[in-house]
Formats: sequence, structure tokens, C-alpha cells
Amino acid sequence: MGKEALEKEKLKHLLDNISKEQLIELEACVTCSECLNWCPIQDVTKDPSISTPSKIKMFKKFVDNAYGLRAKIFGPKPIDEESLAKFIDALYTCTGCGGCGPVCEVGIHTQRLWWTLRRKMVDLGVTPPGGIPNLVKFVKETRNIYNQPQEERFRIWLPEDIKIAEKAEVGYFEGCGLSYNAAPMVEGALRIFKASGTEFTMLDPEEEWCCGFPPAVTGQWEILQELVDHNIEKIEERGISKLIVSCPCCLQQLRAVWPKVYGGKLPFKVEHVIQFAWEKVDNGELEFSKSIDDVVTFHDPCQLSRGLKGPAVIETVRKFIKSLPGVEFVEMERHGETTRCCGAGGGIRLYKPELAMEMGKLLIQDAKNAGAKTLLMCCPACYAVYVHRRIAPPYGEEWKKYEAGIRFNDVLQYAMKLL
Ligand code: SF4
Ligand code: SF4
Repeated sequence: MGKEALEKEKLKHLLDNISKEQLIELEACVTCSECLNWCPIQDVTKDPSISTPSKIKMFKKFVDNAYGLRAKIFGPKPIDEESLAKFIDALYTCTGCGGCGPVCEVGIHTQRLWWTLRRKMVDLGVTPPGGIPNLVKFVKETRNIYNQPQEERFRIWLPEDIKIAEKAEVGYFEGCGLSYNAAPMVEGALRIFKASGTEFTMLDPEEEWCCGFPPAVTGQWEILQELVDHNIEKIEERGISKLIVSCPCCLQQLRAVWPKVYGGKLPFKVEHVIQFAWEKVDNGELEFSKSIDDVVTFHDPCQLSRGLKGPAVIETVRKFIKSLPGVEFVEMERHGETTRCCGAGGGIRLYKPELAMEMGKLLIQDAKNAGAKTLLMCCPACYAVYVHRRIAPPYGEEWKKYEAGIRFNDVLQYAMKLL
């Protein structure tokens, strides 16, 4: 972030569009520090000055300076460069995992609060730190967050035996993360469609644009309308009534944000791919012919276990994994709503990648402690870190020590080998 400050004129809008519920939440924090015990950033930094109660305290001070008693007498006090820089650093040294929410002593929905405060800062003209602004620049230029050619979204690797219908009731939305960082996850999903005899369609590589989750969670909403309108128009043109997604972030974005941006209920249902796969197993349309001798655990992605709308499909994922022949399922101590963040989300890889790596090591250790030989995941951000190693700085000897003795895989990529 450059040297920025917020002058008095902008402070008039400090509370615009922050809901009453969130204002109450800001006031409700009792600084008990319980949430620090569950925060992956705290695990690797031990720095309470960037913790949940500190962020809330800093923002409340801005509010007090703008609207408090002294402000009434002497006029609002601008936010100085140093205070703003500290707040922005704390706000973005956070994976947005929401781990601090379910454990909050007074029930603050922290994840939603961070998204709101980031958006507020951007709306007031504050630039997000590190490489985060590139997310929007890249999406504007290439329609994906990685600045990769659109035509390489998925068709380049598509196996010949997988047929994509021109139009179908079932559609598959791939998302930037899977397209460019986790293509084997897409193959897993498509093989499940094929094996269950499901006719499905997809948008062409140039037609599918970023769902808008990375810009949205980093506060950069200005591009959303265009993305949402375009994607919905293209999805409708394909006759899709049920849209299947693999990425937990896409799922949250489509369910929680798209209707707000679109201005009403979406003209199609949105379902997670493992929910779809489990329904097929459950009703006998999908069977596995091979068996594997393995002990697996599953990492609940933050957006599935405690996303913007709370727990959704995590129980279904467990049913599906337990249905795989030969698999012994073990649970990590932290799972479900209190799952440990893998360290990949919320823009942290573009701001402080070294922290992302440290957080990743802790999750691997959790999986080993549970006795797992394979750590299954279903989020392309996690997959990018553990399988494709798309993270800087480069992995070193220390990381290799952590990953020795355990394998990583996506749930459906793993399952397709048993078909
Ligand atoms: S959202 Fe996650 S990373 Fe951010 S403060 Fe809460 S627990 Fe920590
Ligand atoms: S657990 Fe809740 S009340 Fe306690 S410090 Fe964290 S945010 Fe504040």
C-alpha cells in the first residue's frame, strides 16, 4: 500500500452500507481473545496486533474519531497514514477463513465482517496491499485471475472420450482455480458425470469468466456486475437448470453474492459436485468397481464448512468418501466448523506467501496426527498449494520433511481411479 490517509470528507461515508447487525457486532466484541486460539495467522505469527479484536478496535477508533463526542465538538479527525497502514495490514494479513467466527464468545460473524470492511476501505479509495489489485486487472484483461489465455481454460487437456453437450439441463462451471491450477480436479468431476450417465454441458473457454469470488473477498466489487451478468447470460443460453460447481469459493459466490448482484433469485439451481456425486451413489447410478487399501482424512475447506452461508455439504462429502471401496476414513481433530485453514485463501498468497506456507505445514501435521496416509481435499486453492505447489517462496527442504509419508489428492480425482 502506498502512503495513503483518509481525509475528513471521506469519513462521512465510513459507515455507509454497513448493516445494523454488523454495527452491533463491532460493538459486541468483549476482547476475550478466544478467537486467537483458532486463528491460523496467529498460529504462525503470534502477533495479537493483527488479530480479530485488534482489527475491530482499530476500526471502532476510526468511527469514534469520525462520529464520537470529540468529533461533534471539534469536527472529525482524519485517519492518519500510520493508523490506516496498520489497519490495512491487519485486514489483509488474514485468510478470511472465518475460523474466528464459530468460536467467538458473542457470536460475531467475523468472516462476513472482514469482507465488508475490506470492501468499505476499497470504496473509500484505499488500494489493497501486495499483488491483490492485480486480481481485478487480470480479470478485466483475460477474464481469469491468473492472467492466462482464455482459450486454455479447459479444452487443451480434455480427454477425447468425454463428451460435452451443446445444451443440457445439467451444466458444469469450472472456475479459474480448477481451470488453471487444478485441471485434474475437473477431470475427476467430468468422469463422475460420464460414469453416472449424466448428459452435461459447459460454457466454451472464452464464455466462462471468473465467478468474482477473489475480487469480492478482497473488497474489489467494481467488476462484479459485469462478471455476474455475463456468466448468467451464457449459462441460460445453454439451457442449464442445475449448475454444478467444484470450487467451494465459486459455490459461496454463486449462492450468496450472485443473487445480490443479479438483483434476485438465479434462474438455475447451484449444487456442489460432491453433493451431486453422492446422490448418484445413493440412488445406485454410480458404482465403483475397484478397491483401494488406504487410510484417508478430509480437509474441510473454509468456504464449505463455515462460508458466507454456513455449513452446507461437509456431511455429504464424508458419506461419499466412506462409500469408496477399501477406504478407511479417519477424522482430524479440527474438522467441520472448526477446520484449520490451509493458508491459501483470502488473498494472503498475494500479500504474504511465506505465511501461507507455514499454515500449510500445520494442516499436514494435523493429517499425520490423525493417522492418515492420504489427505483428501476438494478446493482448488488447497490443491494449488499441496499438489501443484503454486506458491512462493519456493518449497524447500523443510517443506519436504512435512510432506514425507503422506499423499495429497482431490476427492473426485481420487474416486475416479476406483470407477
Ligand atoms: S478469518 Fe481466519 S485468518 Fe482471519 S482473523 Fe479470523 S481466524 Fe484469523
Ligand atoms: S472471540 Fe469474539 S468477543 Fe472474543 S475477542 Fe474474538 S471477536 Fe472479540
